[in-house]
Amino acid sequence: MKDVEISNEFTTEQWINIIDKLYDAGVSAVSFSGGEPLILKDFIKIANHATNLGLSTSVASNGAIIDKEYAKKLYDSGIKYVEISILSSNEAKNDLYRKKGSFQKSIDAVKNCKDAGLCVALSITMTNLVKDEVEEFLKLGKSLRCDVCTFFNYIPMSNDEDPLSLSNAEKEKILKEIIIKKEKYEKDFKEIVVVQAPEISKLYCNMHGSDCELKQIGFTKFTKSEYLLDYVGGCFAGRFILAITTSGDILPCPFFRVKLGNILTDNFLDVWVHNKTLGLLRDRNNWKGKCGVCEYKIQCGGCRARPYIQSGDLLGSDPSCLA
Ligand code: SF4
Repeated sequence: MKDVEISNEFTTEQWINIIDKLYDAGVSAVSFSGGEPLILKDFIKIANHATNLGLSTSVASNGAIIDKEYAKKLYDSGIKYVEISILSSNEAKNDLYRKKGSFQKSIDAVKNCKDAGLCVALSITMTNLVKDEVEEFLKLGKSLRCDVCTFFNYIPMSNDEDPLSLSNAEKEKILKEIIIKKEKYEKDFKEIVVVQAPEISKLYCNMHGSDCELKQIGFTKFTKSEYLLDYVGGCFAGRFILAITTSGDILPCPFFRVKLGNILTDNFLDVWVHNKTLGLLRDRNNWKGKCGVCEYKIQCGGCRARPYIQSGDLLGSDPSCLA
């Protein structure tokens, strides 16, 4: 596989050119994430260019610079959805791992975005820091009148010992609690979302029976159907989404450091349609090992980045499969 670069930075004109290329390729939605996308000097101009083309546009930020004025600019740029991340629903814990005062800035950002009329999600990543925070996080989101609460699965970027990683048993405990608490808090949000954790579908089926309703994607509710799940079930990497790094490298998802091409030198549509790695990712008959013979292969299919990080084989079994 080719090496992925993440260090360069583009000018505003280059970003606008990239947005044009995505539009020309038929992309319908663009999500700006990071790092911290709002440190781009002309972020509003770039976002505005995307929304003027008719692209559905969202941004994920820690909220540090979103005061009332900036929230209004985000709204006026046509952005539809703003996701503000915290590391913990406990202020002291959050600030220990970010910067002192950052928790309050994130909370203020949520309030400012709500006041500006934006659709707002509060997000948290399921790490060792937040093992016992499912309900506290949902209570916080509710108190801030968030539209969405999002739990991100933590995907380590290397095989090294990682103090933030959860064991499979710890992750299963959190996911079970989210499924249970979701019933209690569902009415308070447009949606409670679990992202990058296709294995939750196995857990959900185990807890509710195999004919259960599966809620797999954002605001859209799907019922179990082989045909539909083959399309929407499981990990999105390379099937619904591609990521572009700050060097222009095209990846299946931000965590999946397999270079498929580069937006500056390759035709985006050509990569999307013809790239061989993407072809492999789109056919679950290619899965090997436990995932290859699993009855939840269609609903789940495992995360493909994790076996790639662990063994170099993106078709291998997901090492973080639940019991
Ligand atoms: S074996 Fe693979 S497809 Fe089956 S539940 Fe585990 S991660 Fe998902």
